[in-house]
Order: sequence, then structure tokens, then C-alpha cells
Amino acid sequence: MNKFTPNNSPLSIPPGGIIGVMGGGQLGRMLAMAAARLGLKVHIYCPEETCPAHDVCFAKTIASYSDEKALGAFAKAVDVITYEFENVPADCVSFLSSVGAVVRPGALALEKAQDRLVEKEFLNAIGVATAPFHPVDDLAALEAGLQKVGRPAILKTRRLGYDGKGQTTLRDEDTDLPGAFEKAIKIAWKEVGAAPSILEGFVPFEREISIIAARGADGDIQIYDPAENVHQNGILKSSTVPAKVSEETATHAMAIASSILEALDYVGVIGVEFFVLKSGDLIVNEFAPRVHNSGHWTFDACAVSQFEQHIRAVAGWPLGDPSRHSNAVMENLIGEEANAWREMAGEANTCVHLYGKHEARPGRKMGHVTRLAASQSNR
Ligand code: AMP
Repeated sequence: MNKFTPNNSPLSIPPGGIIGVMGGGQLGRMLAMAAARLGLKVHIYCPEETCPAHDVCFAKTIASYSDEKALGAFAKAVDVITYEFENVPADCVSFLSSVGAVVRPGALALEKAQDRLVEKEFLNAIGVATAPFHPVDDLAALEAGLQKVGRPAILKTRRLGYDGKGQTTLRDEDTDLPGAFEKAIKIAWKEVGAAPSILEGFVPFEREISIIAARGADGDIQIYDPAENVHQNGILKSSTVPAKVSEETATHAMAIASSILEALDYVGVIGVEFFVLKSGDLIVNEFAPRVHNSGHWTFDACAVSQFEQHIRAVAGWPLGDPSRHSNAVMENLIGEEANAWREMAGEANTCVHLYGKHEARPGRKMGHVTRLAASQSNR
């Protein structure tokens, strides 16, 4: 097989082929399980000695993302490389490409998704609306940003934030008393570790939805129904399909997801998170260049899940049918919530997914449960 083919080449990996996955968390685990259904194998590359994907993968490499010897051997051992988290170092992807590996969805998507400022500038440049924002590199910029976007506002680190980590909210009431404003901005700046950040205006959304979409190596795009998401403490709590949005809003969200896929010449699954305003207008919060937590319901409510869809895309297979055969509510099992597995396992129309993590730390995603409705109904 020619490994010198570009991202959008007709590279097609038949059953028996090996997909390399950077990262070994629960997303890697579910990708490996989906690949196995198609007769494909997954080789996990991650620095951790033990991780959720190790229980179900064909092969593993335990090495750092900067270990060029290990990366080179990994590139030789697999037919295509993908990733299950967006913070794969850019140097790692450049190195893999320099030794001839095909990396999908590719370096461009990572570059745009790894930095919240770059991501918002990219979205605006392709005509997609975001929250108002201002780059913040010091206290003076934070003060200027608050003048621009108003309050409440959310200060987020540009890089490496996830599940509400690396962000803090500046509210109106925090800053009413004399001297309180200066104190509040200093605390906020400290809370984000004085790291390069972005200040976002608070979006008064009515609901949050996400779109899981895929683009194949041949340019075909397939899109799942929007899910309605509820977050608690910045962590996804539940995703429900159908989302309570109009047909028009759903179609608009799908068109936005398509335009992002096209602009990135993307191959694979993407997760796009939206705020829905009372008017029905859509604001993109962020996108993740990978399978997404708010698409876990597709495992049980669709013939072809987001995990299989991603494997199909990166392996150069035709994309599958994303239609939904059931309504569903996916709930994340966070920390000790997963201890109730026995009761949930006894519920009707309920699919319990546990990630094999040993320690139930607070805020840690231990598994999820998807409850299917007996019959499908539309929005
Ligand atoms: P994020 O880490 O950017 O995905 O944010 C996590 C959650 O915080 C979002 O899903 C929203 O519920 C909330 N949030 C983030 N940014 C904003 C914003 N600019 N306006 C309102 N809510 C936000």
C-alpha cells in the first residue's frame, strides 16, 4: 500500500487493515470496537501504561508523542493514522507526515481546533457566527476585552482546556463594589493560569445542540440528527435526540457543519457545538476534529455509529447511513454515578457502556448510558 498519498486520496484499506489511533481514552476504545465490526484492527499509540482502549485493541505502543523512533515504527506498522483527542502535538503530526504516514482528519483541522482564538477567527472567516471575543495576553487586554464583549463574559485559555477546565466566568455582580473590578479581573487571570486566553461574551442561549457529521475521502458528507445537550459544571451531562429545534434550525446547523468540513478538506467525523438563540439563530461554540461525546447515542440508535463512520472515513470506505432508528437519551456516568451499573443494566431499552476505568474520580467520565425510546418520532 502506498503510504505517500495525500489526505484526500483514494487510499482504501480493506478488512484486515490496521488503523493507528493516537490516544487511548474511551473514544479510542469505542473506535476500536467499531473497527472490529468491519474486520479492521486498531493499533493504539499513547503515553499511558494503562488506558481504556488497551482492553480492546489489536496492538499498542506506549511512548511519548515526541518519541520519533516510536512514532516512526508506529507509522510503518499501520495503514492510516487518526486521533481521538485534538491536542495531539503539531510536531508529532508533522513528523508522521514526513515519514509518509497518512494522517486523517489532518493537520489543518488540528491547527484550527487546538487554539480557541484561531478556531473563532477561522469560523468567522468562513462566515460562521461565534460569540464576540477578544484575545487576552495580560490584565490590560482583559480589561479592554470586557469593554468590548460586556459582562457576563467567560475567560478561557486558548489551548488545552476541556470539560470546563481552564475557564472562568466574570459576572456583573462580581464587580459592583469599589475596587472589586480590579480584584475580580486579577482573580480571573490567575484562575486561567495567566496563560494566553480569549474572552468571550456570554451567549444568552435557549438551548445547546451539536451536530456530528462526517466527510469521506471521496468528499461525501453524511450528517446525524442534531442532539440537544445539557452541561453541568462545563461537562456534558446528557444528549437527547430529537433536539427541540425547528426543521429550519436543524437544516441550518447541518449546513454550517458541512461548510466547516469543506473548508478544512476534512476526512473523518467532526463534532460541532452550537448555541441556539430564542430567535432560532445559531452561534458556533466550538468544534472537535474527532468523534464527540454528544454523538455517543449513535452507537445504539443508528445502524452506523459515529465511531464506525469515522473508521469508514479514515479507511477510505463509503460512509454509512446516519439515520436514526430510535429516539434516545444519552447520559454520561460521571465519577461514582457509574456505581449504579447493576440497576441500569436491568432497565429495558437501555444500553450501558463502561470504559474500564479503575478509579472513579469526581468529574471523570466513567461510562455512559443510552436509553432508547420504543419508537422513533421526528422533531
Ligand atoms: P466549552 O468548554 O467552550 O465547550 O464550554 C462548556 C460549556 O460552557 C458550554 O457548553 C456552555 O454551556 C458554556 N459556555 C461556554 N462558552 C459560553 C459562552 N460564550 N456563552 C454562554 N455559555 C458558554
